[in-house]
Amino acid sequence: ALSNSLAAADIATTMHPYTNLRQHEKTGPVVISRGDGIRVYDEHGKEYIEGLAGLWSVAVGFSEKRLADAAYQQMLKLPYYHTFSSKAHEPSIRLAEKLVEMTPENLTRVFFTSSGSEANDTIVKMMWFMNNALGRPKKKKFLARTKGYHGITVASGSLTGLPINHRDFDLPAIPVRHLTCPHFYRFGAEGEDEAAFTARLLAELESVIAEEGADTIAAFIGEPLIAAGGVLPPPAGYWEGVEKICRANDIVLIADEVICGFGRLGTPFGCQKYGFTPDIMTLSKQITSSYMPLAAVVFSEAIYQAIADNTATIGNFGHGFTASGHPVATAVGLENLAIIEERDLIGNAARLEASFQAGIRSFSDHPLVGEARGTGLIGAVELVADKATKRPFAKAGRAGAIANVIGHEEGLIFRSIGDQLALCPPMIATEDDVKEIMTRMARTLERLTGAVAQ
Ligand code: PLP
Repeated sequence: ALSNSLAAADIATTMHPYTNLRQHEKTGPVVISRGDGIRVYDEHGKEYIEGLAGLWSVAVGFSEKRLADAAYQQMLKLPYYHTFSSKAHEPSIRLAEKLVEMTPENLTRVFFTSSGSEANDTIVKMMWFMNNALGRPKKKKFLARTKGYHGITVASGSLTGLPINHRDFDLPAIPVRHLTCPHFYRFGAEGEDEAAFTARLLAELESVIAEEGADTIAAFIGEPLIAAGGVLPPPAGYWEGVEKICRANDIVLIADEVICGFGRLGTPFGCQKYGFTPDIMTLSKQITSSYMPLAAVVFSEAIYQAIADNTATIGNFGHGFTASGHPVATAVGLENLAIIEERDLIGNAARLEASFQAGIRSFSDHPLVGEARGTGLIGAVELVADKATKRPFAKAGRAGAIANVIGHEEGLIFRSIGDQLALCPPMIATEDDVKEIMTRMARTLERLTGAVAQ
């Protein structure tokens, strides 16, 4: 049945990321051929609700013609130009203005890339360049967290704190210390309450800074809410504490808002949900609803000035991409942000939070669910072998993979992160959509109990 099919051609030619390739060679891909609103359809016409908005990214759904039109018009006018050596074009200028307007007041400058990974690599190099320029060449290390996700290129992959992105790649390759993941359910100690957990994490941060020396640490990077690592909301007081310690030690604070940004948590940016102000923000994904690849580093005037002052002396900032600020991508980004504003999609996420989170929490009673969690329009259930002791399954990821297959049969795409099932639907979703997502998830979990036992 596979011969002469797209599936056969895929098996014959393509190496997929995050895929058991030997399994894939037998079962083939799910070929998605079209989208409509929050739904996508495979090549056989089967319908799925895209409960993860693609890869946490398609805010406006899968059939927004205004974005197609913005791309087409820009391609007719100026399909490509670059931003090296003082060249500029209108879409990237207007989008930079828009990002400065939308983000917290202290962020005034923008550098464009095509992916979140490239944006975080750019930040690493900005910090190194800046500290060389400022005559403090030792201040080069990064602080990050286990289970944090910042991309997969050599530097951003080093900041990421997940074994699958390190283990077989000889990473980290840059100086980075990974601190304890701020997830109370998994990392809280026996008998420790949430406040004591927060205090322990902050004490750890202070002691790592003391051990390494503040004069060797350039920056702290974190997602406001760790998303790809399993949807892990931080404990109360965590971010305020981290911000205070970074300020006291002259450590730049980076919010990786690639998933949280543009309303996912019900606030324009994740840092606003948790009450802290970063010096740098990484943005991508919902910036164009992923209709075009685009990311941005948005940063403070002080950082810009330190770099700009020194382009004359230590040399120009020798870093940038062919597609930095690509006119089609930035034109699509502008139109996408206009739609997010006109349709008040950030407000929509905030309004849907109550029913969405209640839906997620309703799975807490399920015998396989250890924790059901989330905030805004993002959530996850964590499957465990033993609810009472939180004991994970002996074969990590098996239950998650089975859930994934059942979910597809039930017409719901979510993301299995090991044994954690994540939901992050498009921000155009309605109350009825939330109900339907939860119904399909409930059916998936019902069937999972028997399937896992086998
Ligand atoms: N940072 C965060 C928080 C992400 O979630 C991701 C991707 O999921 C990235 C960075 C990397 O982005 P990209 O896949 O575009 O390189």
